[in-house]
Amino acid sequence: KPIVLSGIQPSGSLTIGNYIGAINQWVPMQDEFDCFFMLADLHAITVRQDPQQLREQVYDCLAMYIACGLDPEKSAIFVQSHVPEHAQLTWVLNCYTQMGELSRMTQFKDKSAKNASNINVGLYGYPVLMAADILLYQAAQVPVGDDQKQHLELTRDVATRFNNIYGDTLRVPEPMIPKVGARIMSLQEPTKKMSKSDANPKSFILLNDTLKQITKKIKSAVTDSDEQARIFFDTKEKPGVSNLLTLLSIATGRTIDDLVPEYEDKMYGHLKGDTAEAIVAMIEPIQQKYAELRANADYLHSVMRSGADRASEQASKTLAAVYDKVGFIKAP
Ligand code: ATP
Ligand code: MG
Repeated sequence: KPIVLSGIQPSGSLTIGNYIGAINQWVPMQDEFDCFFMLADLHAITVRQDPQQLREQVYDCLAMYIACGLDPEKSAIFVQSHVPEHAQLTWVLNCYTQMGELSRMTQFKDKSAKNASNINVGLYGYPVLMAADILLYQAAQVPVGDDQKQHLELTRDVATRFNNIYGDTLRVPEPMIPKVGARIMSLQEPTKKMSKSDANPKSFILLNDTLKQITKKIKSAVTDSDEQARIFFDTKEKPGVSNLLTLLSIATGRTIDDLVPEYEDKMYGHLKGDTAEAIVAMIEPIQQKYAELRANADYLHSVMRSGADRASEQASKTLAAVYDKVGFIKAP
């Protein structure tokens, strides 16, 4: 089976954007591919984290992965820092990545603009760590959202460069474009994507928000202030309304084209109420499973252990090949 790798930073609780754009897309891949799903704690510290909170978030995210349908029997689910090859390969790849390439990355520009007091080297080198994550497993395909496409392109460039110098060593990965590619936008600034690290909690829906909070956040979502309070799908003219329609469509399994005629003569409040109800119905069963899993630390530890074992087995092979190619002596 071809190998697929993907991951999420435990930089906060998971949002409904992470669910729709990532985890829920991964669930069906588990039968078709040999999957590696990572909790990217090394990536998370590119932004300052409270240590105790980071630990909790890793457990939270792991339990949430499983509650959402990732199956540790089928896939390797692991914590990035448990597999030291990620950091080791990153160092080598740093030496094959140009400053100019990293300076062009829009995520770096966005995140450094938002956090001018902590523009650290790790934040700058984030895409190289991501390249190491992918290349260590010789992944054939990488499911990524819009926001990560540029990083995957860099991964391909670095792998190709390395192979041109040393001969075929690293598999050049292909992006996997999700069938229903949806980007969920912020509820407060619907022209920006929803992010778990947004400072305004009203901008995102967390998978472990209470059902009451979820309803409240959807009901206070920003729609628009234009004169014609009409409901139609147009992400440019109606970003807030379109975001609600997207959420409603995903939660009900109905297409947007099917939904729009039903809502076009109704009020925004109507759309919000129905969307809140549908999202709550989608999330409630996930929360029930999550509560059970999160209380079972022994089980979560056993998942972490077996995931790290499976990941290390693959990763150590690639690292050994790379070390050999660049001329490192195998420790006698
Ligand atoms: P952060 O704000 O810390 O960067 P994030 O919410 O952007 O958090 P990431 O860990 O960067 O989450 O991304 C994890 C995965 O979720 C990636 O595959 C990314 O493409 C996807 N993703 C993130 N936000 C959204 C969104 N709003 N809509 C759809 N997919 C998303
Ligand atoms: Mg992000």
